[in-house]
Amino acid sequence: MSQNTPDSTYRCDICGRRFYAADHHILHRGVRHPETMTKDEQDAYREAYRAEAAAIRSFRIRALGVLVVLYFGFLFLYVIYAS
Ligand SMILES: [Zn+2]
Repeated sequence: MSQNTPDSTYRCDICGRRFYAADHHILHRGVRHPETMTKDEQDAYREAYRAEAAAIRSFRIRALGVLVVLYFGFLFLYVIYAS
């Protein structure tokens, strides 16, 4: 087995897709096969969804910060060296 092959312990019972992490597996179940989930799996899906949404929001804020720093960095470089 290659090191990049997903672990077969996180394998979808319905479609056979495999995942690297339990969170990815439960998110897949919640999006693709919500009708087959138990109450505990639905709770795990909601928790994983909240964690994923918080991570995405954090990434967006950091990406915006990087863009602002790059924009003003190049702007100041232009003002200093091109004028
Ligand atoms: Zn599936």
